[in-house]
Amino acid sequence: MTAVETARDVRVRTALSTLPPPGSLFIGGKWTEGATLMPTIDPTTEEPLTDVAKAGPEDVDRAVEHAHVAQKDWRRRSWQERATVLEELARAVEADTETLSVLEACDVGIPVSGMRTELANGLARLKYFAGLASEIKGDSVQTADGSLHLTVRYPYPVVGRLLPFNHPFQGAAGGVAGPLAAGCAVVLKPSDHTPLSALRLAQLSEGILPPGLLSVLTGDGATTGSAVVRHPGIPRIAFTGGVHTARHVLRDGAEQIKDVSLELGGKNPMIIFPDVDVAAAVSACVAAMNFTRVQGQSCGSPSRVFVHDDVHDEFVSRLTETVAAMRVGDPLSTETAMGPLAYAAHRDKVARDIATAVAEGARLVTGGGRPVGVDRGYFLEATVFDGVESGMRLAQEEVFGPVIGVMRWNDIDDLVERVNEVPYGLTANIWTGQIGQALRLVGEIDAGYVWVNGRGQRPTGLPFGGVKLSGLGRENNLGELLSYTQEKSVVVDASIGI
Ligand code: NAD
Repeated sequence: MTAVETARDVRVRTALSTLPPPGSLFIGGKWTEGATLMPTIDPTTEEPLTDVAKAGPEDVDRAVEHAHVAQKDWRRRSWQERATVLEELARAVEADTETLSVLEACDVGIPVSGMRTELANGLARLKYFAGLASEIKGDSVQTADGSLHLTVRYPYPVVGRLLPFNHPFQGAAGGVAGPLAAGCAVVLKPSDHTPLSALRLAQLSEGILPPGLLSVLTGDGATTGSAVVRHPGIPRIAFTGGVHTARHVLRDGAEQIKDVSLELGGKNPMIIFPDVDVAAAVSACVAAMNFTRVQGQSCGSPSRVFVHDDVHDEFVSRLTETVAAMRVGDPLSTETAMGPLAYAAHRDKVARDIATAVAEGARLVTGGGRPVGVDRGYFLEATVFDGVESGMRLAQEEVFGPVIGVMRWNDIDDLVERVNEVPYGLTANIWTGQIGQALRLVGEIDAGYVWVNGRGQRPTGLPFGGVKLSGLGRENNLGELLSYTQEKSVVVDASIGI
């Protein structure tokens, strides 16, 4: 340790030293040098951490070539063998908690406390899909003459998995688990802003996954992402990200009629009835916002909170108190509740959304700026607006940051109309003890995932995904596993040879 090096510097340096040389791409089970580099920045210090490669079309070509070769053997392995390999990968991840937590803290800003949940979720999906590997099976249809009419499932050879910036490791580990269990090879493209933990996952996979089965190609969207989506050797694209990018992905995939699934954004409502325990509802709202895991940069966050007139004042006052007490700081400190936003342009975008909300007349009740005493890093305070109205941008567009907008309600038909007036439909959370009212709303709200008295939990095995602009397809369940396969119908005629 040099004189000027802090304990934080040492932890970060140690974690970075585990990674392959700067600019490396993981292709064919080997680390190769990318031709073009781009930096990745620590959002706490605003300092560059290291350089990563910007993979080009020729790198994608090589990754796909290796993927096809590796998959030919992988798909012929028994499901038990594939499950055993995934379980081994899960054990390697479990043993790497310190490095992964530090990488995610310095590359993304996820507090080490929040990383426990992120890692647990990634691991849960690796183990879940390992356990589901036996479920790649078809159906049979009854026949009168003894013929066999049946379906067999075959894995897509290669899945292109594109990740957003907010849950990088959870998304990488969880995102490769299903395709690998199904018998596919994967070309993984992490976010340009938060690529390090995917590189670490590739390292952990060495000696466990057959060479070429998993490639990790860092890079930006326009060069690397687009080359993955356009590549004719990748028939199945699993994309998580924004609506704007999803349109590009659909258009680029259309040329080859690719099978594309889309996990996109939301403007998620939380609905508070007057009969609730307000303290419990506030605590659930704060938990579901994921302030302390990813600074509210979470697709399922309840960023529109509809509070009944009767409990509005108490709700806003308790919410304000809880949110204002949240300690913002270095994600590597165990005392930190909320870290910085992931990168500068995103912090600036969220700050602009806050300014627009103020200009449009929403009442800022807490937060809204840089935390006092913090003079560097992409930090923003946890923020609550009250008096948000339907026409405001804050009521319509995803902020994807630590910002809640409170809206009032007192008529349930009007409430349903306002809840459904946005173009998204990802999650909804209904807080009430009146089960009949809750069930009515479950039926009427446009959302792919609804909690009744929930806290934002996402139990493994329950499908997650959206309606309207929030996406196409479901993940985290058997359906996701099967989505990496295609059915072939087989007719075996019993009348021949009798
Ligand atoms: P983004 O759309 O900017 O980027 C997602 C990925 O696509 C990145 O890897 C990016 O490099 C790549 N990309 C960009 N342009 C591309 C192109 N033309 N072709 C191919 N790939 C391209 O998303 P983001 O800002 O990283 O993530 C935030 C968004 O993701 C939010 O809207 C959030 O709600 C959503 N999200 C949804 C879920 C879900 O499960 N529904 C989960 C996490 C995040």
